[in-house]
Amino acid sequence: MSNPQPTGVRLADFTTLRLGGPARALRRCPDAESLIAAVTECDRAGEPVLLIGGGSNLVISDDGFDGTAVTVESSGWEYGTDLRDGVATSYVTAEAGTDWDTLVAATVADGYGGLECLSGIPGAAGTTPVQNVGAYGVEVADVLRGVRLLDRAGGEVSWVDPSWLQLAYRTSRLKGHDDHVVLGVSFWLNDDAVSAPIAYRELARELGVEPGQRADAALVRARVLGLRAGKGMVLDPADHDTWSAGSFFTNPIVPAADLPDILARIAARVGAETSVPQFPADGGVKLSAGWLIERAGFVRGFPGDDAPARLSTKHTLALTNRGSATTADLVALATTVRDGVRDAFGVQLHPEPVFVGCALG
Ligand SMILES: Cc1cc2nc3c(=O)[nH]c(=O)nc-3n(C[C@H](O)[C@H](O)[C@H](O)COP(=O)(O)OP(=O)(O)OC[C@H]3O[C@@H](n4cnc5c(N)ncnc54)[C@H](O)[C@@H]3O)c2cc1C
Repeated sequence: MSNPQPTGVRLADFTTLRLGGPARALRRCPDAESLIAAVTECDRAGEPVLLIGGGSNLVISDDGFDGTAVTVESSGWEYGTDLRDGVATSYVTAEAGTDWDTLVAATVADGYGGLECLSGIPGAAGTTPVQNVGAYGVEVADVLRGVRLLDRAGGEVSWVDPSWLQLAYRTSRLKGHDDHVVLGVSFWLNDDAVSAPIAYRELARELGVEPGQRADAALVRARVLGLRAGKGMVLDPADHDTWSAGSFFTNPIVPAADLPDILARIAARVGAETSVPQFPADGGVKLSAGWLIERAGFVRGFPGDDAPARLSTKHTLALTNRGSATTADLVALATTVRDGVRDAFGVQLHPEPVFVGCALG
């Protein structure tokens, strides 16, 4: 293979958890061409590939990855106009490795709205469709125009429509599958500097608007960043509460038929007068993972000051590395929390990040 790069690279340096053992080799790809070449050459040589964008949704084992880590570092974007449902609409198309929040900030500064509720999410633009990234009432599925993909089996490069991706709550046709590589991504925008309709009550309150109303996109971005920082959800190298993979568990969707039993178990534990956050969802009722974790007895900072892996002190849903944790420490903590919630309420939590070489017990 051409241009092999240093071997034995520590993958911890490429993840926001700062966890992960070595990879056999590293290929850094500053543009789509080098990304296609790196993946294609590895595939031809039978070499396993681990794609890494911002490393903010990856839990990599202490043993590392027995193959080549390929980092997606292509960057840049351009605006255009296209017909959306027959109406001329602005869009932005970005290289896959473009830092997501840099892109969101640029669209807002350039007078566009639509992406502002997704401010402050770490990682690369091209990875946002992988788990249909979402926050504060907006998800990628609402704004995605298309994705440029390399099909690793056939080597074809093509744009696909959002429908191909089967975007759903924190998942897509790409998540957990490695048969395609995202090379570029395109999002619809409003060109009136006004936000998407504000669907999230906490954000609406902060903005002083009614849910469903729109607001100035720059103001929404500022409020979202403020709310996120208060929960340790904006990366800050000096703040161990942000050494995480964001929310570690998805909000569980339980079948409606199971809900009465679950609510009875919650009432038995925390009192019948307590109101349980619940939202209608495809396939049943969505409960709040963070709320369940807390009510099952896992408070912020669990299990305590001396533990190398702890729940964030700002947000029970973030599992954090306090600086000296191993992946094994983090996985053990996640297993304890998952099992504790299941034993308390009969609700199974599912992890949100992608695991490499490890799994919950
Ligand atoms: C502090 C913090 C806050 C967060 N807040 C949110 C939030 O509010 N909402 C939310 O949805 N998520 C959130 N996340 C999770 C994470 O930021 C997102 O999932 C993000 O999109 C991951 O992007 P990444 O580039 O870091 O992906 P990585 O972690 O690098 O990769 C994730 C997966 O995608 C694969 N992959 C990477 N690049 C490509 C590519 N080009 N083509 C195909 N596959 C690829 C990887 O192999 C891996 O399987 C948060 C994370 C942190 C640390």
